[in-house]
Amino acid sequence: MVSRAPVHYDKESSDVLMRLISLLCGEDAVKVVKVMLNESEVIDEFIAEKTGMRLNQVRRILYDLLDKRIVTYRREIDEEKGYFLYFWSLNKEGLREIVKERKKLVLNRLRERLRYEEQKVFFVCPNGCGDRIPFERALDQQFKCFQCGAMLQNFDNQRIIEKLKAKIEALEKDP
Ligand SMILES: [Zn+2]
Repeated sequence: MVSRAPVHYDKESSDVLMRLISLLCGEDAVKVVKVMLNESEVIDEFIAEKTGMRLNQVRRILYDLLDKRIVTYRREIDEEKGYFLYFWSLNKEGLREIVKERKKLVLNRLRERLRYEEQKVFFVCPNGCGDRIPFERALDQQFKCFQCGAMLQNFDNQRIIEKLKAKIEALEKDP
């Protein structure tokens, strides 16, 4: 028997979730999922009523969400009317997987960024003009600032590296 209790998401996880859903399925899908967050199961008419969207629009979004494993449904035959009723709910496993996949992606990006920071040497203008400059470019401009002419200084990116390492470690720990 599948548990039909609504999944409880704390503020932070539901924010992450909403950003993800917006990215994957658009803003209207976020409205639909928000209705579903506090309910164990809903029918499409209920979502339409709550969001003010048209029923066929809600259905289109639900199928898109189903396709991306964000929602799931069970159906029951309405004996009297002779057709199926669909009860929609959030797909807990699907969502967990999506969040996991996403985390993997973020981790890979952070590791790449860390490698970049560790391999490169940067320079910066002591008067604060512009961004930091990688070694090759600083060499090209003979270690002089394009804007004010000051001699460029070595930029210590140790703090950036430490921050990246801490972020990576925190993500790796989190199951
Ligand atoms: Zn300068």
